[in-house]
Amino acid sequence: MAYDRFGRNLNYLRISLTDRCNLRCIYCMPEEMSFRENAEQLTDDELLVLVRLFADLGFEKIRFTGGEPTIRPNFLDLVQKIGSIPGIKFLTMTTNGTTLTKLAEPLMKARMKRVNISLDSLDPETYKKITRKGYFENVWAGILEAERVGMTPIKLNSVIVRGINESDAVELARLTIDRPWQIRFIEMMPFGVITDLQLKQVVTMEEVKARIEESLGKLHLENFGKLDGEARVFRLEGARGELGFISSVSDPFCYSCNRARLTADGRLRLCLLREGEVDLLTPLRSGASLDEMRELIKNSLWEKPWGNLLSEGVVAVNRTMSEIGG
Ligand code: SAM
Ligand code: SF4
Repeated sequence: MAYDRFGRNLNYLRISLTDRCNLRCIYCMPEEMSFRENAEQLTDDELLVLVRLFADLGFEKIRFTGGEPTIRPNFLDLVQKIGSIPGIKFLTMTTNGTTLTKLAEPLMKARMKRVNISLDSLDPETYKKITRKGYFENVWAGILEAERVGMTPIKLNSVIVRGINESDAVELARLTIDRPWQIRFIEMMPFGVITDLQLKQVVTMEEVKARIEESLGKLHLENFGKLDGEARVFRLEGARGELGFISSVSDPFCYSCNRARLTADGRLRLCLLREGEVDLLTPLRSGASLDEMRELIKNSLWEKPWGNLLSEGVVAVNRTMSEIGG
């Protein structure tokens, strides 16, 4: 089992399979995004070696993310191979949902039983404005297909941006009245190339909650306030589904953080909101033994930091969200 110096047991690895994406969400990356060369990225074999080492250290849950994880070449094959590594018990991913109509069924067969799908609006025009490229109908069909094949409960991730989709928060929350889904609102954070939008158009979770309550009635705290992952969960009176609120700035969850992140270019990142990273790719390519690599990972995990510095105005600028894997 892997622990850090604060006694947290680390067992959850989020893997950014690629920094590339088929969308260009306005809060995530610039329209003219430049991506890393393929040679700088972990190959499938290198990734498998690293995941086996994490599994040796007691990691049992893997989340694929990115960029858009499903556009990595050989994605399904990789999911199958990683899912069969001894010790890996839970496979999931965060996706923009654009490929789910095709992939939901094969993913279920590859033992991926759940996914989080990003959707910021139910209005096709607003959706297009936010993603710059996406088609709402395609993603909606993907969500329904994921539900049909049993990837449940469906969890949707939504970022609310001032002046763009504030009213969508209510419409998204309304979905939970009849559907047993969890809609998770994520407060926008500044990353990488910090834009005016990331700084000036933030809508706080308190505001999102207030808007929802004003239109749909009181929200009731679920699970006695215990976090579900990073979300604090509420339910509308009589609703079948739930609402989750994620605010890494005003409501950090460092005490329960059990995660580490692996970037597509082989860096171990121990906190989403801090720049510190450990290069695993270079020693791996320079012939370090498996024991040496395992020791390097174990010692790096020990140093996992506590507390993000956003509230002190310190922003991680070395990567965009799409490069870290949100
Ligand atoms: N492409 C996939 C997707 O969109 O679900 C996975 C990667 S994306 C970086 C993961 C999550 O990060 C998405 O739910 C997205 O909405 C969120 N995200 C991206 N940029 C963000 C930002 N600046 N602040 C908060 N969340 C952000
Ligand atoms: Fe792509 Fe996801 Fe970033 Fe949108 S949030 S640009 S879908 S990586």
